[in-house]
Amino acid sequence: MRNTLPFDGFRTISNRYHGVFHPARMPCKKVPVKILSATSEKRFNRFYHPPPVEEPWSLSSPKKRSGPSPPFFSGIPGPAVLYNGLQFRWKFSHKDKSSLALRSRKGDAKCHRKKEMIKKKPYGANAKEQLKANARDKMYRFLLADDTVRGVFIHGTRMINEMRSNFDLGILETYILGHAYLGCTLMSANLKGKDRISLSIDGTGPAKGLSVEANAYGEVRGFLKKNPIPVKAPLESLNMSPFLGAGMLSVTKILEGMKQPYTGQVALEYGNIAEDLASYYFTSEQTPTVFNLSINFNKEGEVVGAGGLFLQVMPGAPEETDKKIEALLASFPSPGDIAERAENPEEVIQAVFSELTPKLLGSHRVEFFCRCSEKAFSQHLSMLPKKDLAAIANEGPFPVELCCHNCNSTYHFSKEQITEIWKGKKG
Ligand SMILES: [Zn+2]
Repeated sequence: MRNTLPFDGFRTISNRYHGVFHPARMPCKKVPVKILSATSEKRFNRFYHPPPVEEPWSLSSPKKRSGPSPPFFSGIPGPAVLYNGLQFRWKFSHKDKSSLALRSRKGDAKCHRKKEMIKKKPYGANAKEQLKANARDKMYRFLLADDTVRGVFIHGTRMINEMRSNFDLGILETYILGHAYLGCTLMSANLKGKDRISLSIDGTGPAKGLSVEANAYGEVRGFLKKNPIPVKAPLESLNMSPFLGAGMLSVTKILEGMKQPYTGQVALEYGNIAEDLASYYFTSEQTPTVFNLSINFNKEGEVVGAGGLFLQVMPGAPEETDKKIEALLASFPSPGDIAERAENPEEVIQAVFSELTPKLLGSHRVEFFCRCSEKAFSQHLSMLPKKDLAAIANEGPFPVELCCHNCNSTYHFSKEQITEIWKGKKG
């Protein structure tokens, strides 16, 4: 069932901050997502019991996850499924670490060549509209309290709308994946050069999990592991916990010059991406961190505002700073509202945190963008075993369709192109 919300406008978490300052003050485990009414929550829970946790996870001793590595960074070729003449899927692992599904499809779709990621245009082809929407999607970095607190604000309405449009996501899917996009973008604020950061969730819930990646250029891409998320009844709230279930949240940093990517993991404790990210920083990096992610939908279920706030107290900061921040956060508007009202985040930061003397460090663009291209996919194809390429080239059907997991761009390859790749392969 396609999820629809019988709501008259929905505001996500407002003035609720997902932060961990001290273990003793860790927020209760109740997921602080607005529930429309007590009855509807009860009814909702009847349908969506989070699956039982198989092992007792604990924050203090996160266990290593068994099973396959996250698809982006495994570096190990996934199991190849043999070509069966009609349809096959093949997980790809490569230096580029992108994953792809390769499927061949019956039909007479026209082969078309695109050089870059194929992005749908939810804002229309009108250049003026495109520019207007783009102008507001930015990440703002700042420091507070004599540089002892690092802050980032992101306005990402356009990014979330473009993500939704490319993957054709419903409200629930947009909400969950959108939170991951906003969270991952906030975490990417300190990256430099070719650094990348990825956020991956593997859960037992019907959404299965997600994988999102951001780089130092403000490019963000990633996918839900199950789209559409199977739901058995119309949604009455956007509590994402039942859909993620029990599982692990991993953050992987690939820093330029580092031999190995660094991965940290925490158990999904809250089933809420903002809170679990705060928990990740507290557990894995012992840094008190606050995340506030919000996506506003209008009555029609369209995303009208998406934003996020990140605050991190650096080691050595006086305890008073923690308390001041906690107090000031209560008056910080919901990032989704700031984005929706097109307010200048720098002015809001200056006004709310004035007693901590904010130091604005400038802003840069953020965008839903994937570096996949037809050329890259043709190189992926050329890495298939020669006998498989021969089978595809001889048996078809054409066009062979390759779909990028990270952005849902689809590239088509004709019989001639496949034959060219096959004949050009050595060995
Ligand atoms: Zn892509």
